[in-house]
Amino acid sequence: MKKKLEAERESRVGRLRANKSRPDKLLIGKLVVFGVGLIGGSFALAMKQCGAVGQVVGVGRSRANLNTARRLGIIDDIATDPALAVKDADLVLLAVPLGQTKAVLAQIAPHLAPHTVVTDAGSTKRDVIEAARHQLGAAFVRFVPAHPIAGTEKSGAQAAFADLFKLRNLIVTPQPETAARAVKLVTSAWKLAGMRILTMSAREHDRIFSLVSHLPHLLSFTAVGNIAGYPDAATLFQHTGGGFRDLTRIAGSSPEMWRDICLANRDAVLAALDGFLSDLEAVRGMVEASDGRALEEKFAAARRARAKWLKPS
Ligand code: NAD
Repeated sequence: MKKKLEAERESRVGRLRANKSRPDKLLIGKLVVFGVGLIGGSFALAMKQCGAVGQVVGVGRSRANLNTARRLGIIDDIATDPALAVKDADLVLLAVPLGQTKAVLAQIAPHLAPHTVVTDAGSTKRDVIEAARHQLGAAFVRFVPAHPIAGTEKSGAQAAFADLFKLRNLIVTPQPETAARAVKLVTSAWKLAGMRILTMSAREHDRIFSLVSHLPHLLSFTAVGNIAGYPDAATLFQHTGGGFRDLTRIAGSSPEMWRDICLANRDAVLAALDGFLSDLEAVRGMVEASDGRALEEKFAAARRARAKWLKPS
């Protein structure tokens, strides 16, 4: 295990050293990452890969995960005291489960230097903005709400990789009071990680992602849980094929993260569920009525929509 980790670290650090497109000047002298998991760890690696960062400090809940992150070259130092960690930081990234956001903001708020910019990677935006507005006080002008639309179903530092964000979108939802300098620092960093930047309102963001991300995750978890609830679940799972596997890949995601997303985006998730349930009810009615024509039309329309969506532009 130890040897494997060291080999992985060598290959990552090797790739970092091999990178030639380093900016002349560091974009971020000191980066502090709260939550060195898939997202926080991948961001740190991306910053290191392009030589944009001087020092990366990791703060976390699990010492084992932080040790792994340091061994893999994702972070340079581990901090146990959030107040000391953020001292002199240029950028603080919150990449923790949403339920932890408020507590972390409260811990760091009194210790932020006047130049420190704070950002987050949370999958919902209205709740994070509200928490930041309450907890950060005057420093709220230097808080940049953001959501990288990139991920996998894996968690923890071990899952992090520098290319996760390449050619993907970063959604930023700045507030009227957000300082332009703060937005520039955060978007410049994510651009270096390979992201395209999109700006929208937090409300629009939360509605869109309730439909295209949160709802599909609920369906995937429920599809597996439903089968697992049958008395002959073992037999049922034995007979699953590629379709079930494709539908349920994301049911391997972190339950804590998805619990927090459902609670944080409750109203939008409820609306998405209601819309889906009434659609499913309609399909149920077609099956009950043995209405083959309606079913075929429904499926054909969905197939056309999928083809249009995936059509190379
Ligand atoms: P992860 O589980 O891989 O990492 C989260 C890390 O936070 C863990 O290492 C955990 O130990 C640590 N942590 C928990 N509580 C903490 C606390 N109080 N202080 C410091 N560290 C703490 O999760 P992830 O996939 O990297 O997700 C992180 C954030 O990014 C979440 O808010 C999630 O909504 C968002 N996000 C996730 C994805 C995705 O696909 N996984 C995509 C975009 C955004």
